[in-house]
Amino acid sequence: MEKKWVYSFAEGDGKNKQLLGGKGANLCELTQSGIRVPPGFVITTEACLSYLNDPHRTLPHDLMEQVKTHLRSVEEAMHRRFGEKKKPLLVSVRSGSAMSMPGMMDTILNLGLNQDTLEGLIHDTGNERFCYDAYRRFIQLFGKVALGVPDELFDEAFEQIKKQAQVTQDIDLSARDLKDICKKFLQVVERYTAKPFPHDPNEQLEIAIKAVFNSWMGKRAVDYRREFKITPEMANGTAVNIVAMVFGNMSNNSATGVGFTRDPGTGENVIFGEYLVNAQGEDVVAGIRTPKPLAAMADEMPGIFKELMELRNSLESHFKEVQDFEFTIEEGVLYCLQTRNGKMNATAMVRTSVEMVHEGLIDKNQALLRIKPDMLEQLLFPRLDPHTDMQPVAKGLAASPGGASGIAIFDADRAEKMGHNGHKVILVREETKPEDIHGFFASQGILTSRGGKTSHAAVVARGMGKPCVAGAEGITVDVKLRQAIIGEVRISEGDIITIDGSTGAVYLGEVPLIEAEFSSDLVTLLSWADEKARLLVMANADTPADAKRALKFGAMGIGLCRTERMFNDPARLPIVIDMIIADTKEEREKALDKLLPIQREDFKNIFSIMAPRPVTIRLLDPPIHEFLPQEQQLIDEIDILRNLRKNLRGLRVLSDTVSFMYQNDPAHPKVLTPADPELLDAVILKKEMMLSKVRSLHEVNPMLGHRGVRLGLTFPEIYSMQIRAILEAAAECRKEGIDVHPEIMIPQVCTAQELNRVKEWVAEIHKQVEDAYGLKISCSFGSMLEVVRACMRAENLAEEAEFFSFGTNDLTQATFSFSREDAENKFLPMYNMNHILQDNPFEVLDVKGVGKLMELAVQWGRTTRPGMKVGICGEHGGHPASIEFCHQIGLTYVSCSSPRVPIARLAAAHAAIKSR
Ligand code: PEP
Ligand code: MG
Repeated sequence: MEKKWVYSFAEGDGKNKQLLGGKGANLCELTQSGIRVPPGFVITTEACLSYLNDPHRTLPHDLMEQVKTHLRSVEEAMHRRFGEKKKPLLVSVRSGSAMSMPGMMDTILNLGLNQDTLEGLIHDTGNERFCYDAYRRFIQLFGKVALGVPDELFDEAFEQIKKQAQVTQDIDLSARDLKDICKKFLQVVERYTAKPFPHDPNEQLEIAIKAVFNSWMGKRAVDYRREFKITPEMANGTAVNIVAMVFGNMSNNSATGVGFTRDPGTGENVIFGEYLVNAQGEDVVAGIRTPKPLAAMADEMPGIFKELMELRNSLESHFKEVQDFEFTIEEGVLYCLQTRNGKMNATAMVRTSVEMVHEGLIDKNQALLRIKPDMLEQLLFPRLDPHTDMQPVAKGLAASPGGASGIAIFDADRAEKMGHNGHKVILVREETKPEDIHGFFASQGILTSRGGKTSHAAVVARGMGKPCVAGAEGITVDVKLRQAIIGEVRISEGDIITIDGSTGAVYLGEVPLIEAEFSSDLVTLLSWADEKARLLVMANADTPADAKRALKFGAMGIGLCRTERMFNDPARLPIVIDMIIADTKEEREKALDKLLPIQREDFKNIFSIMAPRPVTIRLLDPPIHEFLPQEQQLIDEIDILRNLRKNLRGLRVLSDTVSFMYQNDPAHPKVLTPADPELLDAVILKKEMMLSKVRSLHEVNPMLGHRGVRLGLTFPEIYSMQIRAILEAAAECRKEGIDVHPEIMIPQVCTAQELNRVKEWVAEIHKQVEDAYGLKISCSFGSMLEVVRACMRAENLAEEAEFFSFGTNDLTQATFSFSREDAENKFLPMYNMNHILQDNPFEVLDVKGVGKLMELAVQWGRTTRPGMKVGICGEHGGHPASIEFCHQIGLTYVSCSSPRVPIARLAAAHAAIKSR
């Protein structure tokens, strides 16, 4: 049996977009549902692939025969004949693949015209002007698409005639002018191709089909597929739709237009779009004439407008989705030319989802599934006005979404000062360290020239919900000179810059922002998501302010509270430093005694805010040298202080002179206080101790070094203080009648013995606190799984741990042996570009490698402890595809930064609905 390459609109399966392309499948659906569509047929994507795979680029041998057979049916339906002078039929030849790629492939209109058919058309319509208009459009489009003639050559010829005829608007050209244009256009083509223009309509048709097939491999289309990651599984080849032409430019009772069944900007349930009387489709998009809003049709063509509203209702009730459609009115008869799902912004998507459920058009599952979770980002963060024409000066990693403008400030202290003085600040650093934290608080956003998406700057900014562009390597930050250089551009301290943490773009100057909007429709939609989801969604939140934000975004608890953030507060850092430089256990305990009440208060606050939801607190993780200044900074400071000490006599003389000379001057700046030599000596000594500590703590590989539980076991008093603070905070809450559920989590665990030791301390302190407060506290004990060995020994670890949480930032680093600080700026983009790795594994969970480890660890853990609670708290916990995987392997919860919580809630619902 011969292969079927062609399907009429009446027979094609409207669900088979892979074979018929989106447009073809929809035209089949429309035709079969009784909506008036011009008759036509689809050539399949298989025919396209057969043609493209043929080294000689020949069409499948029986394709044109099948095309001719179908053309006969169209002729019958239209009562016209293709290529005949009497009642000629014209067709459009339109591309259309399984994925919508607007404007990326080619389309030819008015095909079938030549001198003979033109005369026939003039005879039929009695409208010479219209016919020449159709002919000149055909010659230009066919010339450009099928024969490769540059558009400019046609434009020049067109302008020449317009000038001769002394008209400015196309509509004012007479039939005679258009006839001249046709003649000129034919010359343009023949001169450029050095061949006669193909006049045989069958030849035209064959060339046009090949041209549309070829456009699948055109640069535009190939680039588009790469950019939007359209794989062959999603769309392979283009179909070709051959459709009888109907004319919106036949008379003033004809028109053409485009419409949305609802407003794509707001989602409001009103028809939205534009039309032009006496015009062809391309005129509406080309912007040559100004189209009118569809609402105006109610007055201008009331009968047709009523039909248009009926068409809109039929489209929505058939496709159960907002439609973006094209229509033509030929002599008072309305035809739908094509339809597809309307692309809308997030506000409109959310509103239409909720309203279509209330209208009974779709159910809640459909309402949830039609919105891509990441799209909600638009509603949760302020974003840059998409209409800006400002161009970025640099690009880094989109590390924490949202847009922010402010003055560039190059260190955290000054950022804090300027922030307190009411300035909007962008903190610009080469990379940030925990000691910069106060600068984060004071800034609108953070820009770094080094570090990846899980760098300190990125993680902290995401936790705070502040925009961050990280690793913008094209920027050289010079903190000493207080400037950043980007090629020719210099950003000096105080210059206004704008960062877009959703794209990684950096702008010089202020780009207008659009505020975030957490609407009641979004609240409704997310409540439906929670009904459907099986995964719980927790937040990564480190401070009481974060906890409040987490609640606002609907977090069901805190899945990760990184306690180091509390240590970084500027008021506490000196105590932390004392703890670090302490030489004896006693000295260290003295510092820890000061920290205990502070931490207890922090925890108490967080527990109260989150009650009765669980709060997982992770004991100290980063290497402690991170709390100390850098070695070079200390060397410089000691140097300056020593010089000062040497020149103390000079300072005294200066001070005395200033005091004496300006003593009666009210505008006297300030009395210089001569430095106290003893104080100076003490400061120098402290700095020297810090320097020696920094040197002794130095590690070649700090990320694999003395951190996490290893640190906890080396300095038991630090973890003991934290455990006590957690349990006492819980006890105080309980005393006040607050229902709290603390969980203690240990980072960087490799062996059950590590867990066992810490668990013993927890048990001991737990008992002491319960005795002291005279009440019972429930507190569970768990382990991070972020080390490969921990995953492999999950069965064993589960004997000690009551829950697991995958730290996929470190686990990804460990599994790939890619540094989470550097890989994203060095080789990962090249890996992605060359398809060595499909995605950035620090952003999209590597299901095949890291995911496999997780899957095994879940199984093994639950062998020991059936039903064990297992979650994820690495950055992947907020990534929709990764969340789907977490659902599949049976995790209990995902935990992510607060502003991603709504995205994760929707993604969790998607995962549950899809798996049913
Ligand atoms: C992780 O490693 O995934 C994690 C959550 O911990 P951190 O990012 O703080 O190392
Ligand atoms: Mg970690």
